[in-house]
Amino acid sequence: MPVLFVGHGSPMNAIGDNAYRRSWQALGTDFGRRYPKPQLVLCVSAHWLTRGGWYLTGMAKPRTIHDFGGFPQELFDQQYPAPGAPAAAAEIAQAVRQPLSGSALGLDASEWGFDHGTWSVLKPMFPQADIPVMQLSMDYSRSPVEHYRIGQQLKALRERGVLIVGSGNIVHNLRATRRDASPNQAYDWAIEFDRIVGGQLKNGQLAALPDFKSLGTVPTQAHPTHDHYLPLLYAAGAVDDKEAPRFFNADFQSASISMRSVVWG
Ligand code: ZN
Repeated sequence: MPVLFVGHGSPMNAIGDNAYRRSWQALGTDFGRRYPKPQLVLCVSAHWLTRGGWYLTGMAKPRTIHDFGGFPQELFDQQYPAPGAPAAAAEIAQAVRQPLSGSALGLDASEWGFDHGTWSVLKPMFPQADIPVMQLSMDYSRSPVEHYRIGQQLKALRERGVLIVGSGNIVHNLRATRRDASPNQAYDWAIEFDRIVGGQLKNGQLAALPDFKSLGTVPTQAHPTHDHYLPLLYAAGAVDDKEAPRFFNADFQSASISMRSVVWG
């Protein structure tokens, strides 16, 4: 099974007829043809942050969460009724161990569901909503390398038909957005950070990705908070250094959000 990192950008990409959404739709049609159809999707979204542990959604019918404000009613009306996978969640929670403590992942029975980092991308990709989906939270109190370590543990799931999806953005600064910017216009710091990380991905320097804060002052502009960067570490952890990445949507939304997305495998 391939591994995806998807730059999700604005929630409006879920319903807008734009190149991002069209690319997600096109990628979805590759499953069942170029790639096998997934048995399960495990998605790590920038929008589910926990503290004091990692959690997997374990409910049978995850709810669609509209975790945003100030958007049209049409966006709030969106539902993604893909089933959960309680038995698989319980199994994966035991198989994947939390760094340092070595304890199993937590199982979330009622709190979460599918936030827009998950459904805005998966709905265009798999519109029939017939593939079970679970979300994995990110323990935001832990260091980037520990997120990468969890990703490495997810690698074995690929052979069992699990599609691992990281959903975030390689550059993400909401305060600096410029709505009038075209997809090839971006701030110098955004272009630089995207170029550096894109180079590391291309060259298979995946173990260097958790050290993004060492890249001078640029990372603080690219990620005032690093929640949208972390999902990349899960996806990168789940691939081998020698697996060649294929980039798509390698441009910018609103000048400060890199939409660069990756397929490995
Ligand atoms: Zn987001």
